[in-house]
Amino acid sequence: MKFGSNIISNKYLKQTRELYGDDLYLDFGSKLDNKISNDNHFDNNYKLNLELFNKQINDCQKCSLGSSRLNFVFGVGDANASLLLVGEAPGEKEDLEGEPFVGRAGKLLDKILSAIDRSRDKDVYICNVLKCRPPKNRDPLPTEVKECEPYLLHQINLIKPKLIVALGRVAGMTLLNVDNSLKSMRGQIHDYNGTKLIVTYHPAALLRNPNWKPEAWKDFKWIRSIID
Ligand code: SF4
Repeated sequence: MKFGSNIISNKYLKQTRELYGDDLYLDFGSKLDNKISNDNHFDNNYKLNLELFNKQINDCQKCSLGSSRLNFVFGVGDANASLLLVGEAPGEKEDLEGEPFVGRAGKLLDKILSAIDRSRDKDVYICNVLKCRPPKNRDPLPTEVKECEPYLLHQINLIKPKLIVALGRVAGMTLLNVDNSLKSMRGQIHDYNGTKLIVTYHPAALLRNPNWKPEAWKDFKWIRSIID
């Protein structure tokens, strides 16, 4: 089975089956049809439509974060983006507004994107591994990642980015399933289920430590050279 030209990895197939069960995995469209039977707003490409996927999962209660969140934070940006930015989980402001990377860190990220001639609406999609805020912004638990990561995998299969950038050590460790320092993960191209992945600083870390900005800028110039 293929989405466009990308052969779906075994891990993705396994996780999709866990998410939807065999019947939906084999007949994704008919279940979506049920979900949207009263909604004629969408075009015939609904099987590949991020908005509909959002509608399908935004009442998720698969882990305990579903009951404590204020808002489900699916993601924002260009559905055909070359660059997918992934953080670990929504913070307080993101939970309030339902959008990833808002507030001061989000504004800094917007400036960085502008410097590589992009924006959150232009060739960039932004989301998190977890779609709901962990209490007091603690790190995601492995059980939460196990439940939520299949959603990210499905987003990636819809967007088909050239490059995934993990923002911050926790996002990098979570996606790469390692317990490493940011330093050891930076500066190399990793593989995430068949898509190139690199790890760089979280913009909130750059606000706390402006001395890291030149290194982050080096990373984003490299990112630009990969996706251009
Ligand atoms: S964090 Fe993910 S798995 Fe847990 S309730 Fe939210 S959307 Fe569902």
